Amino acid sequence: LIDFPYSNVLVLGLARSGTAAANVLLENSKSVRINDMHAKEDDETVEELKSKGAEVILGTHPLHVLDGIDIIVKNPGIPYDNIILAEAMKRDIPIITEIELAGQLADGEIIAITGSNGKTTTTTLTTEMLSESSLAVKVAGNIGLVATEIAQTVERDESLVLELSSFQLLGIQRFKPSIAVLLNIFEAHLDYHKTMENYMGAKFNIFRNQTETDYLVYNADDTKIVTAIEKAPSIKVPFSVTQRLPNGAWMDQDYLYYREEKVMPIADIVLVGAHNLENILAAIAAAKLRGATNEGIYKVLTTFSGVKHRLQFVDNIKQRLFYNDSKATNMLATQKALSSFKQPVILLAGGLDRGNDFQALLPYLKHVKGLVVFGQTAEKLKKLGEQADITNIVAAEDVEDAVVKAYQASAEEDVILLSPACASWDQYRTFEERGDMFIQAVHRLK
Ligand code: ADP
Repeated sequence: LIDFPYSNVLVLGLARSGTAAANVLLENSKSVRINDMHAKEDDETVEELKSKGAEVILGTHPLHVLDGIDIIVKNPGIPYDNIILAEAMKRDIPIITEIELAGQLADGEIIAITGSNGKTTTTTLTTEMLSESSLAVKVAGNIGLVATEIAQTVERDESLVLELSSFQLLGIQRFKPSIAVLLNIFEAHLDYHKTMENYMGAKFNIFRNQTETDYLVYNADDTKIVTAIEKAPSIKVPFSVTQRLPNGAWMDQDYLYYREEKVMPIADIVLVGAHNLENILAAIAAAKLRGATNEGIYKVLTTFSGVKHRLQFVDNIKQRLFYNDSKATNMLATQKALSSFKQPVILLAGGLDRGNDFQALLPYLKHVKGLVVFGQTAEKLKKLGEQADITNIVAAEDVEDAVVKAYQASAEEDVILLSPACASWDQYRTFEERGDMFIQAVHRLK
């Protein structure tokens, strides 16, 4: 049973996390009311929750759903200016997310990971490092697995690695990970959080309840983070790509280190991208604190080729290296991808036209020897390529066609990179679909 001192709970927003939260609360004999705009009376999950005793109000947000309520469990995506939440704040009704419940449910040790960028990569790396070290581990959270659901299955000697967004972290009260990881803070989601202070405050919630026996893994190169954690009582474990750190994870030209110990040579890492070295060091620190071995870490870093669609290594075909960075839906991400390679690149780019002129990509095109453009922005990108004096510029129908044309224009040792700098919606449903089409087209070359 969970230690949860509230009897009457409103679950706002059903989806998968709301359903899991409602189920747990019902199992713990709480009185549960559900309010959702989109669910239907005859949805299977709605019928099931009703049969278990939940009161369900769908399709509207009448203020009386708050009557008699002690606490709200909200879906992380619902903004705080939602009419119910605004009224709840007036009535001083506490508002949490299901992460608070997950924290109560897991018997094992929680490793919680947050940051503006690199969450999924670091979460995956940490989980794999523990698993390859033969340690019991589960993963959940923002990565696409409902924390409340997975947390219930976590046993005493197991680790639960949780990827947490700022939206999830806003709604915690007592949630306390034994290892918290803070990757970086960039400006993001200001539409939701309104100010940078709010956004940072949400991220810093990750260590808010930590005590002298908990660990806080943090980016020693990020001054906002370094300042914010100063007063935290946690045991601090820094990571850095620039400084030697006798009490953390760090690197020199050739090796990765944890404290004074050499972990492995950098040359053996499969994952590309300077930013991924930060994620790797953060993961090493977190995994080492839970007992990961250098052998386990080595196994992961010599095989892990990236989270799908994020600068993911796909294949080597006749000495051409194919990378799928379909998640790069803006110029910043494509700049990062292009900076990750020194060898000649054939870039596949294009997609939804948001009115950019793409000039910000120009300084990054020096080693781009070929450009294959597609989608609504094809013409604009072609002009950019001409400006950069790229001799080989080709227009393609779509990503599949672009793969074939890029291959025809390539030589041995080239990198063929899908990093579109645009959203996919002009030709694909999602960036995932676009990336899958790329992967399939690459495999068809064989
Ligand atoms: P998140 O889960 O936080 O969105 P991902 O691991 O999925 O992060 O990476 C998404 C993108 O963010 C990557 O393709 C890359 O462009 C960028 N990125 C990843 N890690 C970092 C980092 N440590 N610093 C800056 N940018 C990063």
